[in-house]
This record gives sequence, structure tokens and C-alpha cells, in this order.
Amino acid sequence: MISTLFESSQVAEAKRLIDEAHHIVIFTHMAPDGDAMGSSLAMWHWIGERQKSRAVEGSVTVVTPNTFPDFLAWMPGSDRVLIYETNSAAADPVIAEADLHICLDFNDPKRIGPVGDKLLQNTCPKILIDHHLNPQEFASVVFSYPEASSTCELVYRLLEQITPSVLTLEIATAIYTGLMTDTGNFSYNSNNPDLYEIIANLLRAGVNKDEIYNAVFNQASADRLRLTGYCLYRKMRLFQEHHLAVISLSHAELKEFHFKPGDTEGVVNLPLQISDVYYSILLREEPAKPGTPNPRIKFSFRSQGDRPVNIFAAEIFRGGGHMNASGGEFYGSLQAAMNRLLQNYPKYLKKD
Ligand code: 5GP
Ligand code: MN
Repeated sequence: MISTLFESSQVAEAKRLIDEAHHIVIFTHMAPDGDAMGSSLAMWHWIGERQKSRAVEGSVTVVTPNTFPDFLAWMPGSDRVLIYETNSAAADPVIAEADLHICLDFNDPKRIGPVGDKLLQNTCPKILIDHHLNPQEFASVVFSYPEASSTCELVYRLLEQITPSVLTLEIATAIYTGLMTDTGNFSYNSNNPDLYEIIANLLRAGVNKDEIYNAVFNQASADRLRLTGYCLYRKMRLFQEHHLAVISLSHAELKEFHFKPGDTEGVVNLPLQISDVYYSILLREEPAKPGTPNPRIKFSFRSQGDRPVNIFAAEIFRGGGHMNASGGEFYGSLQAAMNRLLQNYPKYLKKD
């Protein structure tokens, strides 16, 4: 039996809001990953089915701030997602006229870029389902469980509690994708036995886990793999005293490998394979937006065990995240970003 995580009053309130709404928008974070897309599409399929079965004249739409990687484009329903960066004209009225917003896999409207302002302008009820620390207060019903493996796990639990045995193949596939990607194919945040009971139920609903693994992890371009090799062979610097590896990539280097969103996904985890590396940091330069002077340097932080990186990310690089997986940013040159990193890491990273 899967343990019950949610208060029944919370679930009843979420159910009431979903059933009373006619036009629902589902939001997820910038640079959507498997959990963001999985939780959003699971919810999208489920609400679509529910509206149909209850003969509700309504709509449900997923809005992502920017595009999702090619390795998630096979997901059923992904072709119906409204991508704000390229289609704000279509997304704006849908967001403004919705009578319910559902926010998945982010804890702060700032994490969804310009979409966050549009979301706040509409004062309709909002449901937040997320597993990041310290959610901002902007939703009327909050399911915030930082100990959960993924937002997909939370969505599964909610759907199961509202309507047991409701899993269609599309819903189950979307949920499995997020469970798999947010745990590194069940190699971290994945010791809760409930997870494997959930997976058993997803398999019973017809999920082909081997196919999903293949679709997500084995469809890279040659450029992407070469970029990974280049990172490890040419770009990885080791700071042994602090068990730290750092990889930095300039925009020019990325262009050489015809970089596409998602191409560096997972690269930051690779140095952790080295026996005495416990911290890994990746810096990636994005060219300056028109009208702005500085490039953006995107930071990814990873660590193992009792070595938090989220405080370093928050205090030095305006970011945050989980204890062992965080992100941040810096506006300026790649060299300036690197200098800031080198000046500060000894204060935040442990030597043992
Ligand atoms: P990634 O390195 O995969 O981009 O991000 C790892 C984790 O850090 C994600 O789960 C995300 O929630 C968090 N994160 C990434 N970038 C930021 C950021 O700029 N601000 C905050 N608060 N969290 C971030
Ligand atoms: Mn997640």
C-alpha cells in the first residue's frame, strides 16, 4: 500500500477547484525537463478526460515559458503545448481568461520568467504542486513536498486519491518519464519504497519503461555526444582539495557543436563519477539578449551526500534549488563568472 501523503481536506479542495473550473491553464518552469513536462502532460491528459467524461464545456492548456528539449518531443500531447517565448500572442488571452491555474514543478512565479507576471495578473484560484524548498505564497492550495522524488510522484498521488484507477497509458507514460528523469533513472532521491509501488501500477497501466528510457536517453545527436566528450576531455578542471570539478562552456564553443536546448542536460552529473569528486559545477554562456549589455551565465550545481550546494547557489549566484542539485545565474563575462566562483567556493564547499 502506498502511504497517504496529503490531507484529505487539501485533496477535496483541489478536486473542487478543478471540477468547478472551465478554463484551466497548467504552468511549468523555464527550460522544462522530464518532470516538468511529465507532470504537466499527465495533468493535461487527466483533466481533458475528466472534462469529457463530465461533459464540461471547457479547455485545458499547458503553457511552458520556453521550448522543451527534443528528447521530450515524443511525449503524447507535447505538440499541443503553448510555448510562451514563441507564441505569447496565443498564450496571453488563455492565461488571462482562465478560471484556474495549476502550477507544477516550480516554487516561485519568478522561475517562469515573463509568464510569471501574466499568471499573477489573473487573480483566479491557483493550485501549486511542487517539490522545491520554500514555496512563495501565491497559490490557494499548496502541495509542497521537498522530500518527494519528483512533481510527477505528487501528481500521481493526487490523481490516485481523487480518482483511483484512472491511469490511461498517456497519463502513466508522462508520470513515469518524470519519475525516471528526476531521479537519474532511480539513482538518487529514490529510496522511498512507495516509488516502486507507483511504478508497478504504471507498468500495469501499460507503460513500457524500456522504451521510455530509450526515447529519453538514447536519441542524442552526434554533436551532443561530441560536446559531452569535449567537456570531459578539454574543459573539466579539478580542485582536489574541495573535491570539486568545474566545466565552463562559452557561447562560441557551444556553437561549434550546434548546441540545442537540452544538449548539456546531465553533463554536470558526469564528474561525480570520479571517486573523490563530490561537487560538480557547470557554467554555460548564453549570448546577451538584444538591448542588454551582458551575456547570461547559467550555473548548474550538483553534489553528493551531506554537502548542500543550494546555499552557495542562492547567496552568490541568485539561484537556489535542492540540497544536491541547484542552479543559478550571473550577468557578465564567462571569465567574470568564473572569477566569482573561484573567489567564493572555498567558503561554501567542504573539504571532507
Ligand atoms: P539545473 O542545474 O538542472 O538547471 O537545475 C537544478 C535544480 O536547481 C532545479 O531543480 C531547479 O529547481 C533549481 N534551479 C535551477 N536554476 C535555478 C535558479 O535560477 N533559481 C532557483 N531558485 N533555482 C534554480
Ligand atoms: Mn522536478
